[in-house]
Amino acid sequence: MPLWSKPSWRNGVDARLLDILVCPICKGPLQYDKNAQELICRPDKLAFPIRDGIPIMWADQARDIDPAAKPVPPAA
Ligand SMILES: [Zn+2]
Repeated sequence: MPLWSKPSWRNGVDARLLDILVCPICKGPLQYDKNAQELICRPDKLAFPIRDGIPIMWADQARDIDPAAKPVPPAA
């Protein structure tokens, strides 16, 4: 079953969109934070806001994230 067909993904950003979105700075994959409605680039420690389901992929709109405040397990 494709990930985006799960109902839990319906009320957030379209997962198909997430597939094609990359960090505008490092071109790396982004992590979707459903609760915060942000797309997170861990290498750059930036969080891009999502407004009305639209990811705002501008570096000057991104928020610095404090890794100490919200530990994320390392990618496998
Ligand atoms: Zn990045």
